[in-house]
Amino acid sequence: QKPVPSDIVISRSCVPKPIDHLAREVGLLSDEVELYGKTKAKVQLNIVKRLQAQQDGKYVVVTGITPTPLGEGKSTTTIGLVQALGAHMKLNVFACVRQPSQGPTFGIKGGAAGGGYSQVIPMEEFNLHLTGDIHAITAANNLVAAAIDARMFHESTQSDKALFNRLVPLSGGQRKFSPIQLNRLKKLGIEKTDPSTLTEEEITCFARLDIDPSSVTWQRVLDTNDRFLRKITIGQSPTEKGYVREAQFDITVASEIMAVLALTSNLEDMRQRLAKMVVATSRSGQPITTEDLGVCGALAVLMKDAIKPNLMQTLEGTPVFVHAGPFANIAHGNSSILADKIALKLVGPEGFVVTEAGFGADIGMEKFFNIKCRYSGLRPHVVVLVATVRALKMHGGGPTVTAGMPLPKEYVEENLELLEKGCSNMRKQIENAKHFGVPVVVAVNAFKTDTEAELDLVCRMAKAAGAFDAVRCSHWAEGGAGAVALGQAVQRASGAPSNFKFLYDLEVPIADKIRIIAQKIYGADDIELLPEAQHKVELYTKQGFGNLPICMAKTHLSLSHEADKKGVPTGFTLPIRDIRASVGAGFLFPLVGTMPTIPGLPTRPCFYDIDLDPETEQVNGLF
Ligand code: ADP
Repeated sequence: QKPVPSDIVISRSCVPKPIDHLAREVGLLSDEVELYGKTKAKVQLNIVKRLQAQQDGKYVVVTGITPTPLGEGKSTTTIGLVQALGAHMKLNVFACVRQPSQGPTFGIKGGAAGGGYSQVIPMEEFNLHLTGDIHAITAANNLVAAAIDARMFHESTQSDKALFNRLVPLSGGQRKFSPIQLNRLKKLGIEKTDPSTLTEEEITCFARLDIDPSSVTWQRVLDTNDRFLRKITIGQSPTEKGYVREAQFDITVASEIMAVLALTSNLEDMRQRLAKMVVATSRSGQPITTEDLGVCGALAVLMKDAIKPNLMQTLEGTPVFVHAGPFANIAHGNSSILADKIALKLVGPEGFVVTEAGFGADIGMEKFFNIKCRYSGLRPHVVVLVATVRALKMHGGGPTVTAGMPLPKEYVEENLELLEKGCSNMRKQIENAKHFGVPVVVAVNAFKTDTEAELDLVCRMAKAAGAFDAVRCSHWAEGGAGAVALGQAVQRASGAPSNFKFLYDLEVPIADKIRIIAQKIYGADDIELLPEAQHKVELYTKQGFGNLPICMAKTHLSLSHEADKKGVPTGFTLPIRDIRASVGAGFLFPLVGTMPTIPGLPTRPCFYDIDLDPETEQVNGLF
């Protein structure tokens, strides 16, 4: 077998078709497409209306066993599968994937466009700025942050009347509320539209948000792995008159605005979700929203292009939507609802849309069903569960691996005993998918050191565990041709009866929803709400957020809360340290342990290898 070249070498060796050609091929009209150079385009949302009557295609979600540092290849399999279905089986297809954060691209992980001969191209465009959606989120998020601190500052230095006069300034001799301010008045129960008729009490109530500085949950963001921003002090210039507080930066993809982008279904809905985001609590315990700050309209303006899905292509010329990329722990880790909806219309009833849910089936897939499908109303036909021999061996008790060191022999030589033990994790994840009533096809992503007997064993174990089918695939080394068997299995499974159901009803109390996920999906005996979490259960229930779905922020490296517990841990109680709310995006996120929300750089970051050839403008070293 010929060695497989590096991802960037493969990506560059393929000339992408002009994106306007691809747009025409998939049935987009020229006035529905906004070109961003030759290889990327945005799709306007008016297409949703044009294709309203079209029947949807088949909807496939790719997930995996519990991730290990050895990698499972979910993105690679998503792309390999659509290449097989589209370029080899000649069906209409779309892949819908997340836009990667730029932080990890320069840090530890490198690119995320798939790998080998199953990639989105051009991979440097995909991994870097794309069409600026993440930059738009950074701008919108930080406008909110600036609005919060500026508001607290102004409120601390002005009387109620002076504040009111500045918030509702004289114009042509009259004061007039803006439409956003009228919404705030309504929320306060003040049924007036003429500012001159407000009583003193109403003026105070309107003008003062009275934010409790210790309650601010909104953070600044940056799409860079800059660990020194994990805790900062703001307001140290004398111009801020001693208004100093501790704050932090998160990575941009952890912003609630990213989760809003991923879960929204149209411009009006996005505008409403952006207005509902809760950023702090007032001293009297009221939630403070971006609408109270008056900034929600400006956010919608900053996000008006980001809401349009980005069209790109695979190495084999099949279409891909790259749209939204929320964090997979404090958010739900799935690409956008809008991209899936548009793609399902474009492929038509015989076609396939394949999307990926981040992390393992216990995290990404559970959130895909309980959060994303709940908001979209879409029902998937097939779950593809990616497994690898080496990762299953680690779940069976294989040794840990050290970056930069050769892999221990357990992972490169046949070891059926370790593999069979590790299949317990795959069995549990198949069971997890089946809780939702959707058929599961296991994709065994083959590495060159896997043996026939090993690949066979995984397929047998998967079928015995109740998978609809289990097939080995070699799309990393061979492109779509290596995933045709997977494509055929997915096609068969999509015709099988599916009996989709959610894991819990939204009306169930917060703690019980968390318990259902912990017991049914993670295999926990019970949950333990620590005092802060208990307090939040009471607060959110009182504030009226108790009926939101749950987005667990738990380590992805184990079914339990302890990352080093591989396989299928049992006999544990899941500790819930705290619960936070993303009210605009529409979920509560319980924190199981501490979650780093901005990564750091390793000793030798990926950027050491990245450089530009000034002659050809070629990017080198991106994986
Ligand atoms: P995930 O989506 O599960 O995080 P990716 O698809 O991004 O995983 O793959 C992780 C890494 O493993 C990538 O660098 C990819 O090129 C590589 N990879 C995936 N499948 C294979 C394979 N079968 N053989 C060798 N490398 C692979």
